[in-house]
This record gives sequence, C-alpha cells and structure tokens, in this order.
Amino acid sequence: MDSDPVTGEDIFTCRQCGDCCKGFGGTYVTARDIIHISEYISFNPDQFAMRYCEKSGSRHVLACGKDGRCIFFDKEKQCTIHPVKPYMCKAWPFIATLIRHPENWNTMANSCPGIKKDIPEKLLEKIVRLEKKKLDLSIKKLDIQINPL
Ligand code: SF4
Ligand code: SF4
Repeated sequence: MDSDPVTGEDIFTCRQCGDCCKGFGGTYVTARDIIHISEYISFNPDQFAMRYCEKSGSRHVLACGKDGRCIFFDKEKQCTIHPVKPYMCKAWPFIATLIRHPENWNTMANSCPGIKKDIPEKLLEKIVRLEKKKLDLSIKKLDIQINPL
C-alpha cells in the first residue's frame, strides 16, 4: 500500500458481482427503510411488508425473486432501489460490529471481492466510525427530503 488508507473508498470498491444480494434472510429492513423505499417506488408503506418482505424470526427481511436474489435485484441494473436501499445494504462492509470485532474483516472479505484484506485494526476501526457517521447523516437527510417540516 502506497500510503495509509483514510476513508472507506481506500479499502473497499464494490465489484458489482451481486453476491451479497443472493439468498433468503440476509437483508433486514427497518421501519425507516420501509418508509424510504415505499416513497421511492410510490408504494403504500402499510402494505410494503406484505408485498416485499418475509419474516425471519420477529423481523422483516426482503423477499427473494425467482432467481433466488433479492426482490429488488435486477441483473442489468443490479440494485433497483440503490438510493434508498436498506440501512444494512448501505452500511456494508462498514458494519458497526467491526468496531468491537475488527478481526471479522478478513472473513467478510472471503465473501465480498470488493474488500481489501489485512487492514490494521486501529485504522479499520477509525474508518468504520467515519463511514458510519457519514451514512447516518445521509439517512437523516433522506428523512428530511421525505418529510420536510
Ligand atoms: S459481494 Fe461485495 S463486491 Fe459483490 S456486489 Fe456485494 S458488496 Fe459489491
Ligand atoms: S436492496 Fe439492493 S443491495 Fe440490498 S440486497 Fe436488495 S438488491 Fe441487493
């Protein structure tokens, strides 16, 4: 590495392989996600869970299409709800648990070709905190766009 990485872009570039959009049960949606996605696709949020979700325990997860991928995945366009995709999709791979368990980073890299391995733990923790802060801010902006006071 030429110089120390300082942002998420230095240690992660999505390769658009779509592997993280495969399989049932992976993508939890929060009530806030449901509001954002419903607004984006002009759908009634009260009916969103019934139409687009399945239950995993007590939580809602996005349902899969016939191809076994997320119902919002398209092989040409990839994520069709990209600007409003669920928090966990937006956060990947800078998930908050890495702050306590940075050792999971290399394991995550085994299933995501966009992740650079072997990032020093202290640096990784700093980047995850930074990316989380940026994401939380962007989600608040989306809230305001949808519900301006
Ligand atoms: S598995 Fe990683 S590289 Fe592939 S689409 Fe998902 S985030 Fe991008
Ligand atoms: S919402 Fe988008 S990024 Fe998330 S799993 Fe579905 S297609 Fe993939």
